Amino acid sequence: MSPGPSRRIAVAGAGIGGLTAALCLARAGHEVHIFERAPALREIGAGLQITPNGAAVLERLGLGPALDAASIRAEAVQPMDGRSGRAIARFALDRGAYPYRFLHRAALVDLLSEAARQAGIRITTGRRVTAAEPHAGQLHFEQGAPAAADLIVAADGLRSALRPLVAPGSEAVFTGQVAWRMVIDAPGAAPLARIWMLPGRHVVTYPLPGGRLNMVAVREQPGWAPEGWDHDDDPARLRAVFSDAAPELRALLERVEVVRLWGLFRHPVPERWHSGRLVLLGDAAHPTLPFLAQGANLAVEDGWVLARALEAETDLDAGLDLYAKTRGPRVRRAIAAAEVNARNYHLSGPARWLAHAGLGAIGRLAPDRFTARMAWLHAHDVTRERPAIA
Ligand code: FAD
Repeated sequence: MSPGPSRRIAVAGAGIGGLTAALCLARAGHEVHIFERAPALREIGAGLQITPNGAAVLERLGLGPALDAASIRAEAVQPMDGRSGRAIARFALDRGAYPYRFLHRAALVDLLSEAARQAGIRITTGRRVTAAEPHAGQLHFEQGAPAAADLIVAADGLRSALRPLVAPGSEAVFTGQVAWRMVIDAPGAAPLARIWMLPGRHVVTYPLPGGRLNMVAVREQPGWAPEGWDHDDDPARLRAVFSDAAPELRALLERVEVVRLWGLFRHPVPERWHSGRLVLLGDAAHPTLPFLAQGANLAVEDGWVLARALEAETDLDAGLDLYAKTRGPRVRRAIAAAEVNARNYHLSGPARWLAHAGLGAIGRLAPDRFTARMAWLHAHDVTRERPAIA
């Protein structure tokens, strides 16, 4: 890869997207400084599925062995009838170039931040970004002097402070669904992602290192009036919502001691992803419903493609345009697929019965169908992709 001009790059946000982008950009010879609002790098105590497409980037960054040590390799996806507890099908996951993994979010942030420090990236915590001057390349903070940069990467998440400067009027809107996230003790759980489907609701479970089980329970709740967008909840309320679930699922929910409730918000993917020296990345550009486990994986891909696009085009505006045009179609397709899953998981009545019967038949007759259907997403390797236009 031919090196482009070396730039001073400021990254707003040290989440999975910001850290990966910083690493990709630093490895490409740029001088990178991350500003994170939290007083220390930390992640919520929850799990994450890193699918082969995200793993491809992390492996190219040299993080494969550390990822292996911190994760469990997934063997299959198992759709479940959440009422009867019956496994509807079992779709083995592709044993392709990169594994599909389950891990703690905090473990991924730890290994990314360690690699970032080793790459000479400065990480300043406790600095909340409040505004930017996209054309002057100035970043402003709640406290302290502004920072000057040749490029500002807005990786500050779904409620990005900087997105309105690129895409005015694109506030996040509530999707009518809420999610409870929790981790319980469950030693010896099989390395499967199980999707327990009930009318208007579902629960995803998968094991984490250390004998833990990650659980995400989602419910349609259009009238929910969020006070803040995530807060602690009473596990009894969660259990009441799933009181008609299969005994095995109810037994797992009985073991929940601490639970956080999240409103699921989205904003449309903007037409433009950059303005002047400011560019959007990860959830700041394209939040998705979590029903395909892709938000973090797509953010990881973004970082790689941004660094490559800036190498392919020496002019900054052309490079940012190339990045946005390369990423746009792929993230839109993933977001649409997650929305289809949201509908399919929550069916009721005859449609539910028919869908489960169909899935069961596919599981018996064509167990590789899941891998084939998901190849466009999971087998896509951005590290081998040529930027879309030059
Ligand atoms: P974030 O993770 O939101 O990080 C943004 C960072 O910016 C944070 O550190 C924040 O503190 C910081 N920040 C925010 N504002 C400022 C500011 N003003 N100044 C400075 N810093 C700031 N994705 C997957 O790929 N796999 C999964 O299995 C998966 N499961 C999910 C389950 C649920 C229930 C949910 C809700 C999401 C899930 N996702 C999953 C999606 C994934 O969590 C997000 O898409 C991903 O974290 C986005 O990364 P990001 O770095 O863009 O943003």
